[in-house]
Amino acid sequence: MRKGSTGLGSFVVFKYMSIFQSALDQLKTAAQACNLDKGVWEVLKSPQRIIQLSLPLKRDSGVVEVFEAYRVQYNNARGPFKGGIRFHPEASLDEVMALAFWMTIKCAVADLPYGGAKGGIKLDPKTLSEHELEHLTRSYTRALRSDIGPKTDIPAPDVNTNAKIMGWIVDEFSNLSGEFKPAVVTGKPLSLGGSEGRERATGTGGFYILLEVLKKIKKDPKETTVVLQGLGNVGYWFAKEAAKHGVKIIGVADSKGGIYDKRGVGMDIDEVMATKKSKGLSAGCYCNGSVCDCNNYQSLSNEELLEMPCDVLVPAALEGQITRDNAERIKAPIILELANGPVTFEADEILNKKEIMVVPDVLANAGGVVGSYMEWVQNLYGYSWTEDEVISRMKDKLGTAFNAIWQAHQEKKLLLRTAAFVVALKRLEDSLKGRGTV
Ligand code: NAD
Repeated sequence: MRKGSTGLGSFVVFKYMSIFQSALDQLKTAAQACNLDKGVWEVLKSPQRIIQLSLPLKRDSGVVEVFEAYRVQYNNARGPFKGGIRFHPEASLDEVMALAFWMTIKCAVADLPYGGAKGGIKLDPKTLSEHELEHLTRSYTRALRSDIGPKTDIPAPDVNTNAKIMGWIVDEFSNLSGEFKPAVVTGKPLSLGGSEGRERATGTGGFYILLEVLKKIKKDPKETTVVLQGLGNVGYWFAKEAAKHGVKIIGVADSKGGIYDKRGVGMDIDEVMATKKSKGLSAGCYCNGSVCDCNNYQSLSNEELLEMPCDVLVPAALEGQITRDNAERIKAPIILELANGPVTFEADEILNKKEIMVVPDVLANAGGVVGSYMEWVQNLYGYSWTEDEVISRMKDKLGTAFNAIWQAHQEKKLLLRTAAFVVALKRLEDSLKGRGTV
């Protein structure tokens, strides 16, 4: 699959079926826009290294199950590989390759001294006990002991992984190394060298990018409505920051379903989260204390929610949510991609014709990896920054990245995604040339 699906000639065969091909189509569009050096294209069209594992786990019941796991190290021309680990029943090599590729572009967009990687274990964490989850995480760490490390490849949380899981990786990796090595992962607990502000970095950073866009189009945040898909780490912190600036969240969905505020007043995200924990949003109700108010909210599937009227649609769940099948029905004039790859290549073309602005993932959710970089620097140099310091440094980095991309978008008349890729590809090309690779 690796060789067969990455050549230019194989686009037609795999198109529409593969997330990685959708990512490569994005690369190809940008490569054409900037007349990319042929050698750089050759290097970037396939991952440097794919690690595929079968991890046995003795369940609490005594039954042995084997789980598929991956780590894709896409490119490290600009520095150590960097990218999260995802636990998901649909995790696949194709998905992890695409995510590792986007990390390579994203780290270059944010001008961080990192390459790109991603990891995944194909499992539904809700079906494992905590003890089983810990055991599997430790066995994944042991299998990757020679491949990850503070100066080689630095994982982080992604979908269904969190600080606690990163803590188990730090412990296992440190035990194997014979010394405490907190910089092997980012997004870990504060008690193990985690950073203030990292947890909220992706969502908060995503909101700062939206603020920059609103400034450019001269729209008041207080007059802006948002529909948000995904209420995990990224979606939650985005909503918190948005509310602080007066933006109204009028629709939200999790994996089970969504609610839409018919009145356009806006929701209190903490109350929604409390409902989600107690009943799930699929109930279509919004509970405050003991009184359940279903009158003001419309219950919708998460697919329907994407098509509801709003100023900004924020997919913050998984990739492939806006496709050629529903792109025509999207009503929001702006899409802020907080998830990785929520809009497929074909959907991009339809949205472009409808003049919908797509703020690409490699910029919109880059706050996460910038926050991770801050954590890593603190670990390596023994610094301890306050949350304000971390967030303000992150804001500066994102502001610089946004300006470079907006400039390329305006001057070269490129879509924001293509502009972001062009900025990143120039940096990658410089590093590849500096190393003598091309
Ligand atoms: P998470 O596991 O904390 O949350 C995922 C959320 O998506 C959950 O609320 C889940 O219910 C919801 N969801 C899943 N399937 C859905 C569906 N079909 N419809 C609606 N909602 C659905 O994950 P996260 O860390 O918030 O990551 C979300 C996205 O952001 C992913 O694409 C991830 O790769 C990307 N991302 C995360 C970070 C980070 O720092 N965590 C950084 C950059 C990008």
